Amino acid sequence: MYKFIAFFWLWVPGFSSAQSANPLLTPYEIHKTNYTATYEECKNWYHKADSAFETVKVLDYDLTDGGHPLQLAVYAADKDFSAASLHQKNKRIVLIMNAIHPGEPEGVDASMLLLRDMATQKEWIPVLKNVVVLIIPQYNIEGVINRGSFSRANQDGPESYGFRGNGENLDLNRDFIKCDSKNTRAFEKLFTEWKPDVFIDNHTSDGADYQYTLTYITNMPGSLPKELNDFVNKRMIPAIDKRCTSDGFEMIPYVESFKETPDSGITGFAATPRYSMGYAGLYNTIAYTVETHMLKPFDLRLKATYSFMKACINEVYQNDEKISLLRKNAFQASKNATNLTVQSKMDTAKYDLIHFKGYEAGHKTSQVTGMPRLYYDRTKPYDKTIRYYNYFEPVVNIKIPKYYIVPQSCWRAVELLKLNTIEMTRLQNDSTFNLEMYQIAGYDNTPGKTPSNGHYQHHNVQLKTNVQKITFHKGDYFVSTNQDGANYIIQTLEPQGEDSYFSWNLFDGFLQQREYFSDYVFEDIAFNYLQANPDIAAALEKEKKADPIFAADARKQIDWVYRHSRYFEKSYMRYPIGRVMGE
Ligand SMILES: [Zn+2]
Repeated sequence: MYKFIAFFWLWVPGFSSAQSANPLLTPYEIHKTNYTATYEECKNWYHKADSAFETVKVLDYDLTDGGHPLQLAVYAADKDFSAASLHQKNKRIVLIMNAIHPGEPEGVDASMLLLRDMATQKEWIPVLKNVVVLIIPQYNIEGVINRGSFSRANQDGPESYGFRGNGENLDLNRDFIKCDSKNTRAFEKLFTEWKPDVFIDNHTSDGADYQYTLTYITNMPGSLPKELNDFVNKRMIPAIDKRCTSDGFEMIPYVESFKETPDSGITGFAATPRYSMGYAGLYNTIAYTVETHMLKPFDLRLKATYSFMKACINEVYQNDEKISLLRKNAFQASKNATNLTVQSKMDTAKYDLIHFKGYEAGHKTSQVTGMPRLYYDRTKPYDKTIRYYNYFEPVVNIKIPKYYIVPQSCWRAVELLKLNTIEMTRLQNDSTFNLEMYQIAGYDNTPGKTPSNGHYQHHNVQLKTNVQKITFHKGDYFVSTNQDGANYIIQTLEPQGEDSYFSWNLFDGFLQQREYFSDYVFEDIAFNYLQANPDIAAALEKEKKADPIFAADARKQIDWVYRHSRYFEKSYMRYPIGRVMGE
């Protein structure tokens, strides 16, 4: 277990003498441990840290939904706080995010202790020589300010904490593609500027009971190139686990039971790009979500979070050159790729066997409902081998185009691409191309149901492809897939992508027909049209023979002719973004 401040004043690098009377205790320490910092306390503490340590700088990024700047604390041993310059020096960059879910705040307070320890403890000197640590003290600031003591009904402390929803009651950890929140926009600016090697997002779990305090999620299988993925899972995770275990925090993958309880097996988490770590993975960033167990006391959860962050930063230091090389290779691989999986699903026929320390579970009669209820018996701990289902198989794999052409009128998409520093060139003149265009052939959404994070997301998108003559205009955007942001571009612009712009409703306008016809007028036009186009007349007859209901419905037949005529609008159900496959 940690003694956080035992060595605090023995050695203080880069500490201005004027500040040395100020011990920089954190609100968690001042309030004796079952306490997480408020927004004001946290902000002020970081400003104090900025003045106290020459190696710490607090930067203000763009304003969040509630008008507060998104803070970023940078720990850089050589006092260089410029992302561009640190990239030039080939430093490894670790980004830590806290309180995207403000009810799960252990990372907030653990990060303050970590920053102070990094600035004051000798053991950190070699580690931080080539590793720069970035901390977002509190991300969902509006949720942090909305403080109470009851919204996390099942959680053991702290005594009060923020609320999961942001100012518009959205879950910000579903917002990384649609970017409804200004917090997300500020984050993506920061993220693409710093291009972190490793990203840690701190949370608290929900769900089953078991012995572990520390659980984690890594990049979704298949989302990183194999070499990098193997490194994340086979090198980094065992090494981090070893360090955390020696601190008293053995780790286990995030526990989502396959059936009712973990002894039925646990399943991997599909961290698609809507989630922070899925988004980070689009940039070949090694991503970890730390999930400490809700039923363990806050103090212990905080120490487990601290232990993970410390272990991870140490492993980044140990593998400095390896990480740099693997990520370089990964970017090169995405530039050279010809195909990409944009949708996958769990393959429950495949699993690994892992050791799991749980509690025996059973059912007894509920005193509330009189019906059977689940309980875990903490007097009966077990150590069993269980199944870990963490294999995903591709559902949609697409052939990567050389370029996409995005009309400037689809300005929301353009804005998000620009926010992600995607390089684009503009069309010099109005130009007509023969292009492979997508036609939306079908999709599911959930009309009448509760929206998901402000949207009715589309799923199971079906496409037809046909080559069409299509005109784009001067100023429209050519987006090459031969750039570092290739994965972001493809996952967002391919409509079948699990979290594509299309799935998040950016192009819903194209799903509606804008013009119709009046039967009595169109009758005559239809007649003349069929006379002039005997192949279409023959197709109509064939359709009537094949379908007796159609053959008995006049309105349907006139509509059929309309849809097969030049009067029917071409933009209906046509995905507006062009794909250039060759030169
Ligand atoms: Zn969470």
